Amino acid sequence: MIMRNCLTCSSCGTAITTRFGVGHGTKQVHSFPCPTCGVVITCVMRLDQDKPDAHLEDPINAVWLPELVETQHFALFHAEVLGPRTDFSPGDGPSPFVTSGHFFEDYLEFQKQERLREQIRKEYWEPVKRSAVHFERRQWDLFTKEIELILKEKLKTTWQDRVHQMSECFGYSVNWFVLDLFHLWRHQAVRFARAFVAHSTELQVFAEDFRRSGRFIHLWRQIVPLYDAFIRSYPSWMPILQLRYWKKPHPPLDTLFVSDKRFEELRTIYLNAFELLGRISVIALAVEQIAATGATGYTTKKGEAKTIWDFEAMDSGQKHQQLSKHAGTKHLVPLLDTKLRNGIGHYAAHYDASTDEVVCIKADGATLNEWRISYAGFCYALLEMVSHVFFEQQYFFDLLGLSKDLFATRAKPKVKP
Ligand SMILES: [Zn+2]
Repeated sequence: MIMRNCLTCSSCGTAITTRFGVGHGTKQVHSFPCPTCGVVITCVMRLDQDKPDAHLEDPINAVWLPELVETQHFALFHAEVLGPRTDFSPGDGPSPFVTSGHFFEDYLEFQKQERLREQIRKEYWEPVKRSAVHFERRQWDLFTKEIELILKEKLKTTWQDRVHQMSECFGYSVNWFVLDLFHLWRHQAVRFARAFVAHSTELQVFAEDFRRSGRFIHLWRQIVPLYDAFIRSYPSWMPILQLRYWKKPHPPLDTLFVSDKRFEELRTIYLNAFELLGRISVIALAVEQIAATGATGYTTKKGEAKTIWDFEAMDSGQKHQQLSKHAGTKHLVPLLDTKLRNGIGHYAAHYDASTDEVVCIKADGATLNEWRISYAGFCYALLEMVSHVFFEQQYFFDLLGLSKDLFATRAKPKVKP
């Protein structure tokens, strides 16, 4: 459905026809510069999918006209369509909904998986979160109920099997919201098995250190909220996932257009995912080290002996030296790129509607230098980061399976009455 309305710029009075494709979220934010004076106009639409009902708030820097009029200018946004920016450029041409179809390898397959995602968001995601609560509290009777619904199987008997069932609950749901990086999963299974076969005692000691130091529970409590925020915000970034279904190679990211602009909300998810990937990289490196040498420690180029916790304490930007040494971890190096992380994370970073870019900031002493990334490029960076967290999570669950517990102390967590 397309909502067509007219507004006038509050500064120069230019009349513009807006055409908004209505998506499946609860809110859409569309910003664009006035074509005459350049003032940024922002329109927010509130949606109620149950009714269904769409309501436009008063725009920022513009006023809605009570009825449609003939205008020279158009602003076109489509919440669920990815396409070249030129297909969204002002004009009253065909909808990008029509023109983007030919980018897909198999549009019917995309639609099928889109329905699956909708089903997961509506029916399965809350049960997955509930199963995570029961898993953490070892409420196995309640956990059973949820996994029978999600996995269609009975509760397994050992801790290791239950950890596996928990990871599968995420596997079958989150998997449909990320890029297809299954090759990484197969790799990791091999690396972990290699470490386990060659040095199972060392691997178990590492798992025990990880538990006792509180790292398991700390990581666990970051993983679940990250996936939750990512899946709940799906309607706002969903166009970028369409690249998973597009013919390869796809056009450059900076020529593509994502309509719903939610930099502030999405950057938090990106930053949390970055943090989490850095923490999981500690397990990945330890597994590599154990497989290769039987110990988690390593020696630097200068001959200094370091522990895995020294590695963990390093800035992400300095971790690449160790990560790039191993076949199983070197792909993490470009992802833990601190230029993008710091640029997006800077308090002054923001979305610039006049160029459709995210303005990133690098502080150089007292000077703030800015550089830019297209909004679609930012959305892709988010998708890529969470996809890697998802495909690296196996390290976490495999190690957790060896530990027998999530908590630093073996006592059950206290429940407040
Ligand atoms: Zn204007």
